[in-house]
Amino acid sequence: MSSDVIKPTSARIPSDVRITAGTFPRIDLDRCALLLDIDGTLLDFAPTPRAVTVPDGLVATLEGLRERTSGALALVSGRSLDDIDWMFAPARFPSVGGHGAEMRLSVDGEAVATRAPPLNAELKRRLAAIAAMHDGILLEDKGYSLALHFRRAPQAGAAIHDAVSTIRADFPDPPIEVLPGKFVCEIKQSGFTKATGVRELMTHAPFRDRRPVFLGDDVTDETVFAIMPDYDGLSFSVGRRAQGVAGEFSGPSQVRDWLASLLAAQ
Ligand SMILES: [Mg+2]
Repeated sequence: MSSDVIKPTSARIPSDVRITAGTFPRIDLDRCALLLDIDGTLLDFAPTPRAVTVPDGLVATLEGLRERTSGALALVSGRSLDDIDWMFAPARFPSVGGHGAEMRLSVDGEAVATRAPPLNAELKRRLAAIAAMHDGILLEDKGYSLALHFRRAPQAGAAIHDAVSTIRADFPDPPIEVLPGKFVCEIKQSGFTKATGVRELMTHAPFRDRRPVFLGDDVTDETVFAIMPDYDGLSFSVGRRAQGVAGEFSGPSQVRDWLASLLAAQ
């Protein structure tokens, strides 16, 4: 283990793990794999998923860190790989997309579907009809999942979840699950998560022999926080406290500052 990689001193969450510019975590880029959630971690939220902006300099920072880690930088997102590529175009990054449904191990690699059975067509049709409840609901069909975004209609959240629960009860097999998220209700088959995607990623070079450092902001990221100890890895939450993390960044802006500082320090 590298001596300059900060490790939590115990399994107990410290009383104050908030990160400040003066206490930015130091990690060894020769030994670490950087695994980064996108929305709410690298990027600030926007009213719709396609309205997010990638701040100046972030792509260059990520590309620099990807080079510096010999390719061991991956984006880990609920977004599809196509969507991730659209956001950062023309740059491409190794990625785990669709909550573990899709994966690409390298910039030039082929996308591989890891565990992505398509949702039942009738189930999707009924779920899609929920979007008609309110103008502010945005429907996103990823094939293996269906997301109802309601950031523009937050008052519709409870009704959306109620309607989804009713429909879900009519489709007990194969098991489907509802992913909690920030102003999004996403429905997918059980059996794959961000954690299963990261586990798969970590079996491949250049990630395999490195210590993962994962940053995420949302409930679905907790599955990854939970497995980091299996890899002697570290996790950091963004904008919220979470169990088992080594520290908490205040928001995406601070994460971007930290990433830039990592590159500048090398
Ligand atoms: Mg996120």
